Amino acid sequence: MLWQVIPMPNKIQPRAHPGTVKVMLNDIREELQRLRAQHLYRTRRVLESPQGAEVRVGGETLLSFCSNDYLGLANDARVIAALRDGAERHGAGSGASHLVTGHSVAHHALEEELAAFAGAERALLFSTGYMANLGVVSALLDRHGMAFEDKLNHASLIDAARLSGAAVQRYAHGDLTRLEKLLAVTEGGKLILTDGVFSMGGDVADVARLNALAKQRGAWLLVDDAHGFGVLGAHGRGTLEHFGLQPRAPLILLGTLGKAFGTFGAFIAGDADLIDYLIQRARTYIYTTALPPAVAEATRASLRIVAEEDWRREALNARIAQFQSGAAQLGLKLLDSPTPIQPLILGDAQAAMAASEALRARGILVTAIRPPTVPAGSARLRITFSALHTHAHVERLLEALATLPSENVKPA
Ligand SMILES: *Cc1c(COP(=O)(O)O)cnc(C)c1O
Repeated sequence: MLWQVIPMPNKIQPRAHPGTVKVMLNDIREELQRLRAQHLYRTRRVLESPQGAEVRVGGETLLSFCSNDYLGLANDARVIAALRDGAERHGAGSGASHLVTGHSVAHHALEEELAAFAGAERALLFSTGYMANLGVVSALLDRHGMAFEDKLNHASLIDAARLSGAAVQRYAHGDLTRLEKLLAVTEGGKLILTDGVFSMGGDVADVARLNALAKQRGAWLLVDDAHGFGVLGAHGRGTLEHFGLQPRAPLILLGTLGKAFGTFGAFIAGDADLIDYLIQRARTYIYTTALPPAVAEATRASLRIVAEEDWRREALNARIAQFQSGAAQLGLKLLDSPTPIQPLILGDAQAAMAASEALRARGILVTAIRPPTVPAGSARLRITFSALHTHAHVERLLEALATLPSENVKPA
């Protein structure tokens, strides 16, 4: 077979896994039992402090290496003050969707500032990155179109294509030669979707080559830079800056504001006419309440910090380099990632859980990431760094990793 098409009829299908359609409460109980037995059952930690290098969980203070607060802005005093002042000026909630009366001066100013920072003609705010992906993909593709997805794309990109009704082609992670062949034999509307920085591996997509392919083959290219925006590039403009690119057709940038920016929300940046079209057609933009304007004010404050305080990216990169060389000395095998996401692949879910628990017993919080968030057999510790981590913090992590039984951290 030259290529495999996953047909997506124009209605929402139940997931293909056998046994996932749960009709009765008894079926649900059995499924929960099965998840527990397979070490795939998920629970939530209850955080009792703001995000930071150290957090409180269950009455204990733990050194945390698992947030996406890469620049340490989620608990920054200036961002908090802007949130508080914003609430005093604009109220607690937006009270309406953007197209009715929910679009405030705070949203408008933030859109203009994000567009300028990203080097785009225009930007459009969405409530979350998940919703931005659903909105933009359904606005650009219908059931006559074709979505091309890297196999390791974020769930929201996968779901976005599914919801659009388009046919979907998934190519092996980073296999752009394969993508090129698929593009060559496809007629009609085409959209390539990719993470900029892959969320569970930390590696960077070759956006320069993807952009060239998109241009050559008449496809759109959506780069979801949830983990790169604010972090990569000399000025923090993300994966596009890393490659010297700007969000101009066919390239569309999605940035999120709940990670490096420390607040909440997301935006699409691109050509003015594209943004104008999304305002008319993106259903997850139109049919939902606008973000609280105070959150937009907080994000404006964090954007100023992201743009001005290069030391945060420098500190982060120093910690990443320190960790990589320490891990190499311990003989740990990391993925090839230049970003704050430094996963240690352990293989099975039970091994990942055991390693996470052993670290926790040493006062260190690192979450185990298991299927279906990552492919079967690639359960991992997803270690992430923040500009707030000190040299001593990273040393403590390395010392704790050194004490783990080697069969736990060094899979055959
Ligand atoms: C976190 C994430 C999202 C979702 O963004 P939210 O604003 O949290 O909804 C989308 N894409 C990627 C790659 C992500 O990591």
